[in-house]
Amino acid sequence: MPDKYHIQTRPVTPRRPRIGKFGIVDWREDCCRCHHCVKNACVYDRYRQEAEYIRHLRRVDALFFDCMGCFCCVQECTKGLLCMGINPVYEGLGNCYWTPDIIRTTWAQAETAKIPVSGAGYRGPFSGPGFDGMWTDMSEIVRPTRDGIHGREYISTAVDIGRKPGFLGFDQTGLKTSMPPLVMIQMPLIIDLQPAQFSLPDLRPLTCETARRTDTLVVADATDWAVWNENAGGRLTHVVFHIGDGATLPEHVLREVRLVEVSDGPDVAERIAAIKKVNPDLVVCVRVVLDGDGCRRAVELAQTDVVDVLHIRADLNGNEIGVERPRFLKEMIREVHTALIDSGRRDEITLIAGGGIALPEHMAKAIICGADLVSVELPLMVGLECHLCDSCRPGLPCPAELEEIDPAYGVGRMTNLIAAWHDQLIEVMGAMGMREVRRLRGDVGRCMFFEQLEEETFGKLFGRRKNA
Ligand code: SF4
Ligand code: SF4
Ligand code: SF4
Repeated sequence: MPDKYHIQTRPVTPRRPRIGKFGIVDWREDCCRCHHCVKNACVYDRYRQEAEYIRHLRRVDALFFDCMGCFCCVQECTKGLLCMGINPVYEGLGNCYWTPDIIRTTWAQAETAKIPVSGAGYRGPFSGPGFDGMWTDMSEIVRPTRDGIHGREYISTAVDIGRKPGFLGFDQTGLKTSMPPLVMIQMPLIIDLQPAQFSLPDLRPLTCETARRTDTLVVADATDWAVWNENAGGRLTHVVFHIGDGATLPEHVLREVRLVEVSDGPDVAERIAAIKKVNPDLVVCVRVVLDGDGCRRAVELAQTDVVDVLHIRADLNGNEIGVERPRFLKEMIREVHTALIDSGRRDEITLIAGGGIALPEHMAKAIICGADLVSVELPLMVGLECHLCDSCRPGLPCPAELEEIDPAYGVGRMTNLIAAWHDQLIEVMGAMGMREVRRLRGDVGRCMFFEQLEEETFGKLFGRRKNA
């Protein structure tokens, strides 16, 4: 039996002062020095930690915002001297999609490789736009999957990338069907190209080593193949070169890699044929941009016999590109997935979905919607303490000082993050009674869609919800 998939991790502490959410404002001048001051009762011991923090403070812009927001001290102070504030720097992180909470939880996972615990209490509405309108059904936990969470049984997160035959043919001598090449990775996640608008630090050496350590793949620009070849020490099995329009890869590189990606275009079939002529064992993926015509084009490509793998990409926030009323990634995955089922082609094609995958639950939900695996880009950057600010350009200061990171820190944080995502996928699958991520694909019976429930419940009374 092969070894269980396991990612080696170790804690990697942040280089910069933590940017927490809550801080306590303390009006000491009216304090009556109570015998049992509420500060001593903080279960997280934040007041003593704050005193220690201030003693060793090296930067004036780094105030202590590490309170857990339980409100105990605020409510119990006998003179009502304490009040809680939200850190303005925290509120300025990210954007409307990549919220400060997503960034903070990603930082924590990249530091510890542990599953974040959000605690009890009401945290706001139970549904929202995008993936927040999907609830996974966690009621199916059974003994083998519960044991899978704790490592006594095995929950497989491995996926196959490539074309699978629609049926198998046998004769007296055995299998007659010729099996197309497949690439198996142990996690339904690949690392995508670094986005052009967040190109300040050169992450190529870090993502290359992270992909190797976590046994996943990283998509790289084919025009940089020599740099990647150097970073990978000549072992390119974890690199997927993206061959854009007019770009080429040397033949010896095409023979070394397992998977390449080509951009879509009218001559895509000829380009794939030319690549396969050099290396027939290569799996070729076509990247389809999810603009107004993206879903139709993805389904059209899947009907041809030359395309093995489709990589559909929304924008960084998971939205359809270049349309006035964009749909979200989950709707587009469902459209492509169901169209492929209707045409009888779904099981033959591998579908990779990317754009807006910000949390491990998004990975599980995208797979439930019909993707085989997902591609991510920004979460790995955020794992390096990036703020996702909108001034990421050479010559401008980087608040996270990402130009100065060393490889051990960068690879360690990225590896921790992928390990934490893997553990959370196992938790979700365990709670659903699933032991195999391949079976989760398109299993919408394992979740509920808010829009659908609302329509069924209130639609008869009030009609369809009107979106602004
Ligand atoms: S409980 Fe409030 S008033 Fe009393 S010592 Fe603590 S801070 Fe001061
Ligand atoms: S609000 Fe809670 S966690 Fe924060 S300092 Fe007060 S007691 Fe501690
Ligand atoms: S912190 Fe800002 S400037 Fe630095 S890498 Fe991240 S987005 Fe770019």
